[in-house]
Amino acid sequence: MTKPSDADRPPSQSYGATSSPQRIRPVADMEKIVSLCKRRGFIFQSSEIYGGLNGCWDYGPLGVELKRNLKNYWWRVMVHERDDVVGMDGSILMNRAVWRASGHEDTFTDPMVDCRSCKARLRADQLVEKKGIKQCPNCGGKDLTAPRAFNLMFKTYVGATEDESSMTYLRPETAQSIFVQFKNVLEVSRKKLPFGIAQIGKAFRNEINPRNFTFRSREFEQMELEYFCRAEGGMKLLDYWLEERLKFYENIGIPRKKLHAREVPDEERAFYSKGTYDIEYYFPFGRQELEGVAYRTDYDLSQHQKASGKSLEYFDEETRQKFIPHVVEPSAGVDRTVLALICEAYSEDEAPDEKGKMETRIVLRFHPRMAPIKCAVFPLLKNKEPLVTKAKEIVDLLRSQMNVFYDESGAIGRRYRRQDEIGTPFGVTVDFETLGEKDRQLRDTVTLRDRDSMKQERLPVKDLPQILLSRIS
Ligand code: ATP
Repeated sequence: MTKPSDADRPPSQSYGATSSPQRIRPVADMEKIVSLCKRRGFIFQSSEIYGGLNGCWDYGPLGVELKRNLKNYWWRVMVHERDDVVGMDGSILMNRAVWRASGHEDTFTDPMVDCRSCKARLRADQLVEKKGIKQCPNCGGKDLTAPRAFNLMFKTYVGATEDESSMTYLRPETAQSIFVQFKNVLEVSRKKLPFGIAQIGKAFRNEINPRNFTFRSREFEQMELEYFCRAEGGMKLLDYWLEERLKFYENIGIPRKKLHAREVPDEERAFYSKGTYDIEYYFPFGRQELEGVAYRTDYDLSQHQKASGKSLEYFDEETRQKFIPHVVEPSAGVDRTVLALICEAYSEDEAPDEKGKMETRIVLRFHPRMAPIKCAVFPLLKNKEPLVTKAKEIVDLLRSQMNVFYDESGAIGRRYRRQDEIGTPFGVTVDFETLGEKDRQLRDTVTLRDRDSMKQERLPVKDLPQILLSRIS
């Protein structure tokens, strides 16, 4: 719930970063990325045919696969591969009392300023300062209102009457349902401290200035873990989770040198937090937060215990003591990570076209684990029935194990390019050798093309599932 600014931040202590910002060159520019996302069906503007809705985005056929791969991998690493974490899926609408107790109703605000010249509504920390005078970043106007607190939660009404008593909010984070269900989950899972509860779900914030494509949206998804522990373990677990999370990004194809772990200074940190790191990524538009890893002490559970009058204590069977656990929270944004994956994957190189002439090739170099489509299958020619039949058999062979795509239209080089542009790591081509027409020994073999090296190898069809799975997972 920290709200640092988007502006370039002053240097503070860093951890895990191996390069200075100057040496990191953004490879892609945002215009190219936004256009590719629309052209190939990763991300569209929400309600586009009606002029859109600012801060809201729709994921198309490829975007939804990428997002799903990310969420599934997060769930696998954070829940399935651990004995000490269980999952839950809470409702988006909750009793308003939750947001009073958590502090969101009073303090989940950004300072807002109006420019009287161009009527822009701005976040106070996004004003530009020239010779000590604050100015509007849009028109340069100096006639600005005093900052006032703007609550970021969307209000809504539950039931048929629209008054104060039926008012609540769309959740601005998923964490609170974990805190208020702490006792229920503890009882049913029979976990001992330290243990965690994980959740992936939608969150909503009425951001004053949604911007940078999906980076700052009004509707977005979070992947949050609340890891409960004893007070004495908190600071160590903060460092442990920071390291785990940095490893996670490396395992999805975002190298450590493109990440920066910023230790949030005291004056920016929530008052109840004893330590917070922001994991930042070098986006083309600057270094920005992907995830917060915060040691939140026992603040959240204490607040809910006080406000609800229900005990949220943990009973330690060994010491026979009751106490409120502390918590470390790694909280990541799905949409921001998807955007980072696309920015990181985007590259252009030179490759020969059909006639051998060099042309620019756009490639999304996704980690195979994240790629929306894992393997494309092509018959060399679409009007040769045996090639088509064989290619379709291969699609059926692979389909239950990975997302595959069949494409028979156009020259083979053009089909490869189309897959390169959406990041498909592998391409299988069925040719006359597969049919055993040229050499009987090559019957039932195919070429497997690698997206990045563009190298091809010849493999027996029956080995394909195992080889591909080993390269994807
Ligand atoms: P920021 O300072 O960028 O507003 P925050 O510190 O308020 O972010 P948290 O409350 O820590 O963010 O939320 C955890 C994560 O949720 C963030 O690291 C980010 O990935 C994601 N997130 C938060 N707000 C947004 C948003 N408006 N759009 C997309 N993702 C968001």
